[in-house]
Parts: sequence; structure tokens; C-alpha cells
Amino acid sequence: MKDWIAGADRLSPWPQATVVVAGLGTSGFAAADGLLDLGARVVVLDESDSPVNTEKATVLEMLDATVRLGPGATATLPAEADLVVTSPGWRPSAPLLAQAALRGVPVWGEVELAWRMSLPDRQVPWLAVTGTNGKTTTVGMLESMLTAAGLRTSAVGNVGRPIVEAVLDEVTYDVLAVELSSFQLHWTNSLSLHSAAVLNLAPDHLEWYADAAGWPPGVTDPMAAYAADKARIYSRVRNSCVYNVADLATEHMVEDAEVVEGARAIGFTLGIPGPSMVGVVDDLLVDRAFISQRRDSAVELAKLADVVPYAPHNVENALAAAALARSFGVPPPAVAQGLQRLRIGDHRIQTVAERDGVRYVDDSKATNPHAAAASLAAFDHVVWIAGGQAKGTSFDDLVAEVAPRLRAAVLLGVDRHVIADALARHAPEVPVNVLDTGDHGAMQQAVEWAASRAVPGDVVLLAPGCASKDMYTDYAARGDAFAAAVARLSG
Ligand code: ADP
Repeated sequence: MKDWIAGADRLSPWPQATVVVAGLGTSGFAAADGLLDLGARVVVLDESDSPVNTEKATVLEMLDATVRLGPGATATLPAEADLVVTSPGWRPSAPLLAQAALRGVPVWGEVELAWRMSLPDRQVPWLAVTGTNGKTTTVGMLESMLTAAGLRTSAVGNVGRPIVEAVLDEVTYDVLAVELSSFQLHWTNSLSLHSAAVLNLAPDHLEWYADAAGWPPGVTDPMAAYAADKARIYSRVRNSCVYNVADLATEHMVEDAEVVEGARAIGFTLGIPGPSMVGVVDDLLVDRAFISQRRDSAVELAKLADVVPYAPHNVENALAAAALARSFGVPPPAVAQGLQRLRIGDHRIQTVAERDGVRYVDDSKATNPHAAAASLAAFDHVVWIAGGQAKGTSFDDLVAEVAPRLRAAVLLGVDRHVIADALARHAPEVPVNVLDTGDHGAMQQAVEWAASRAVPGDVVLLAPGCASKDMYTDYAARGDAFAAAVARLSG
């Protein structure tokens, strides 16, 4: 074991160290590549010897990594390991990580590695976003605002591009727009971000957090463990901790955070903002936080109409992005321009068709009840298509909240009965169709039934509230199936 690893940065004596990269996903590959670049001895382990992994292994072996793939490859931590860099999906109780904990070998994620690799001399400020829902949308908005301000930036992290890659990029960025998942935050320990936002907190991923091996001291249940990981984003923040005024949990996280002296708490709200907040006045997004006259005035950032597709939750995302951008000095006009130029990703309240006065909206990315609730709240009368893998979450609160908007509901997927039971309890008057076919034909049936129930002015909304892997490769495939089924509607 090497003592210097605890405080390691890019200039540390990496050729002396053996680093085990656990998992050869996108971030594992980037981590291994970056570590080889620093001269470390790298051992990569993955249970899958799929063609994709075999191809990646060939590349890394040419750079002198040792790669072991296939069943059993990750069962034992090599004796010479000084550090483990783990894939964010691995549970803390995975044998290799449990052995690392027992032997006192530090475990980082690719995010922590990227942070260390930017020190001491390649430091680029990070503006980071976490939360149960809205991360990718917010980071997209933020990237667009920063670009509109003429800054060189890249959207990295959980959005898809490993941060290590950006840190090693030949381009020198002015600032990074970073999406962080709770799993990624779990394996961090020294980040000190320029500014950070937690958008919201609601139950999700509780199966991962059921693993008590990963609970910090004092934490006694999965939800608290999940919240504790989200809260890590605020540790050592230098400029602004952005929180959601409507979500007390996020405000408490800021209050409890150990930040750098002088860092501020900045709220975002759909209401009229108080001092040190961004919010909404009439049809404008306004800043009452980053102006000197914030006691008695506010400055316009953008119009509500600049938020496309319009939905209350996307206004929240825009406000959070604006707060982060403003904390970095982005001028107000660039906030509006950034929003105007952005096209939000597919499958996020995306209108796929309009027929006979009925709108068909694909929000396949609503993969937990909190997201589905936000989605449903954006429309007055909805025929709701839902279901999939519920991941241990409950639908009671969601159904109780949105019941008055529901024209009808059609349910599919492995946990359809979880939602059906919640509907029976809290919205017994809503017509419900539970589809027991488990194949792809189910989506066609769901769409046809929904179309037969909708009246002009209604929205047929795919907002599953569940993960998709029981029936589809991912949420995008599920959204595509919905759009295809809508296109096949007769008439
Ligand atoms: P994430 O990256 O956190 O999964 P996305 O930006 O991809 O979030 O949005 C996922 C889904 O979450 C959207 O399709 C929408 O249903 C919902 N959503 C987006 N923003 C919010 C928000 N601020 N609050 C609640 N739900 C939201």
C-alpha cells in the first residue's frame, strides 16, 4: 500500500502504483486509459467477455494494461493493488470492493480520479448537478448557457462523456458542466467544486442502497444513504450551493454541508424569489442572487417561453442551470440565448404526434414515480401509460397527487400491479387496463386502448415511472416503441 495515494494528484509517482480498475464500462475504459497515461500499472477486471469488452481489452493491452475478462474475473482483489477505481454501478458489497475495504485499499470512482488528475495544475472549475430527476436536462441547459457566453465547455459525467477524458483533452476548457449520479458521488472524497446543485430528492435506486456495506456512520436506512450520497456534492463547494426551495431535503443538505468559507446558498423557486434566489415573476425567469441590488431588485434572465418543451419541472431545471451559470459570471442575455438554442433530448416530454385533437407525448425517461409525477403535472387531462420495473419504489403518493388529471390508465411491464394497486387505493374511479402480455405487442395494445379513451384536448402520455429493462434494452427503445405504435394507429 502506498501512503501517498490518499493525497494523490496527477504529479504523484504513479509508476510505483498498481491500480485495479473494476468494470470495463465507458468510465472504466477512460479511467484505465488515463492511468496508463500517468504510467501506473493497471489491472482491469470485468465479469463479461462480450465482444465489446474484448475489443476494449485489446486496446488497453497494447498500452500495457493487464486485462482479465469473464466469469470469476472480479472475484478476488489482486494482492498488489494499491488503489481500486470502481465502476459506479458496483455495489459496495461486491466481493472485490469488500476485500478492498477489509484491506484498507482506497476505492475511488472515475469522478474522483478525474478530479485528482486535474490537480495541481490543470484545474478547471466544475459546475455540477445531481438530483433524482432533471440532471441531464439541466446539464444540457447549463452547457448551452456557458457556450452562449463564449466559454469553452463540455458536458461530462453521467451524461455519457467520462470526466477523465475531458481533463486529458487537448482542449483546455474554461469550465465543465458536470452531471453526477448518486452512485458516482458515493465513490468521491475530495471534490471541491465551484458550484453545485441538488435538484430534488425522491425515492429511487433503493435496491442499490439496500446494501448496508455502503452506509456511512449514523445512516440506518436506504433512503438516508441515498440522500447522504447526493449531499456529498456540496462538500467543499467554493462559490454557490444551489438548492430547490420547494424541496426541504435539498436545503437541509446545504445547511449541513462543510463548504469553503464565503460560499453561498442560492435557492431556485417557481414562485417570486427572495434575496439570494432565482425564480419567476410573471412570465420571466429572474435573478435576485447574483446582483448587487438583490435586497430590492431583480434582473431578467429569460422568458418562460424560452423553456422548450414547457413544463414546470423544466422551468425548475432552467432556473438551477441559470443559477450555476450566473455563479460563474455568465451574463443574463447568455442565459436566455442558451435556453433558446437548446434542443432538449428525445424521450423527455417529447410530442411525437397530434391526432384528432389528442397529443401523444413520450416521456419514457420518467423512470421513477417522482419524474412521472412531474410529467403528469404538466398536463390537465391525461391518459397515462405506465409500468416496467418499479425498483422498490411506491406509487401511492404519485397517484393520490395526480388522480384528478387522469382520464384513464393503461399498465404494462413486470411491476404493473404495483401501480394498479395504488390506482385502486387512491383513484378507484379511474378506468384502468392492466395488460398481461409481456411482449412488445403490449405497447401497441396500450396505445390503441389509450387512443380509444382520449377525447380532444387530452394528452396520451407515456410516463412509465419505472425502468425499462424488463421489456426493452433501455428507455430510448421503449420511447421508440411508443412512437411507432402511435404511428400505426389507424384512422
Ligand atoms: P436525469 O438525468 O436526472 O434522469 P432527465 O433530465 O433525463 O433527468 O429527465 C428525466 C425525467 O425526469 C424527465 O423525462 C421528466 O419526466 C423528469 N424530470 C425532469 N426534470 C425534473 C424535475 N426538475 N423534477 C421532477 N422531474 C423531472
